[in-house]
Amino acid sequence: MRHEFMEALAKAREAHSLEHQEILILLQARGEEVDALGRAADAVRAKYLGDEVHLRGIIEFSNYCCRNCLYCGLRRDNRKLRRYRLTPGEILAAARKAAGLGLPTIVLQSGEDPHYTAPVLADIIRRLKEEVGVGAVTLSVGERSFEDYRLWREAGVDRYLLKHETAGATLFARLRPGTTLQDRLLRLKWLRELGYQVGSGNIVGLPGQTLETLAADILLMRELDVEMAGIGPFIPHPQTPLAKEPPGELELTLKVLAVSRLLLPRAHLPATTALGTIHPQGRRMGLCFGANVIMPDVTPPPYRYYYQIYPGKAGLHEEMETTLVSLKNLIFSLNRRVGSGPGHSPKIQGGMEQ
Ligand code: SAM
Ligand code: SF4
Repeated sequence: MRHEFMEALAKAREAHSLEHQEILILLQARGEEVDALGRAADAVRAKYLGDEVHLRGIIEFSNYCCRNCLYCGLRRDNRKLRRYRLTPGEILAAARKAAGLGLPTIVLQSGEDPHYTAPVLADIIRRLKEEVGVGAVTLSVGERSFEDYRLWREAGVDRYLLKHETAGATLFARLRPGTTLQDRLLRLKWLRELGYQVGSGNIVGLPGQTLETLAADILLMRELDVEMAGIGPFIPHPQTPLAKEPPGELELTLKVLAVSRLLLPRAHLPATTALGTIHPQGRRMGLCFGANVIMPDVTPPPYRYYYQIYPGKAGLHEEMETTLVSLKNLIFSLNRRVGSGPGHSPKIQGGMEQ
């Protein structure tokens, strides 16, 4: 192993802080260095977060989107996609089913769909908490106004997931027409001010991205001091302008995940569905490279097929019960435990930041 690699790894393990150049050295890991990186990330995960793997049921309640992100199959210009919206009743029923299967927390995700006004979503959130008894709600519906975020927070939303996607401002503007990294970051700041547990994250392997961009992604997530970070590979969708681009690499995604764990020891990091999609053992490997969360899809079957962010989504055609059994078996096979309770950020105790 390279001397500079071992030095950077030791520093990351001890101080959970690295310079841009040191992150690059870790991201350049090859062969046995990759294994060493994974072991270090796994040790940090065990030390700060223990062996619990939190399961968050995700309900993808609308695939309408007014944005046109070049990488995403839900983009407005994808006219081939059949669009759907779940009614409030269908969302509550899906959450009830998830609760019955032992999933205490729910993530509500959609394209950017103005059909769901802030008061409509606020009402659904209140009912999820009061009528269904959901332990914690994460919302992930993109870029909205401060007032919308405030209303949802007051209605009881605990967490908000808004991936910064890429820290390269020019790349961001090219891939997400009509939006800017600056606006995205402003919203992450608002969410922090409003008291949300904040989730960000990036896509690994975007066309035009470099290792430098990925190092900047990791430093940005550290600067934002995020409670969660979704880190997954780019998967090309055939009905997007990036259809012919190569997918993000498994090993690079695992390295970004591991370095993120080293620098964000207390953050919740999912072994993403995208990771499970590019490799059948992707989620297992993610759990061994620092991840401590899995987000099983609990969208009702007639709809979930049409939430086509990218093709070939892992577990798409399985019954929810079957998916949960195999995920639990995966967790047990790694000598880990299924998380109990809402699985709040360890930085939060009784609503107070430590
Ligand atoms: N519309 C909201 C937003 O963009 O924040 C939430 C839904 S969006 C479908 C959820 C995530 O999907 C995005 O944050 C992005 O990282 C991811 N995504 C979209 N297209 C992807 C692709 N082709 N490969 C991997 N991840 C993708
Ligand atoms: Fe819409 Fe989100 Fe997909 Fe962009 S990533 S097209 S905002 S669903």
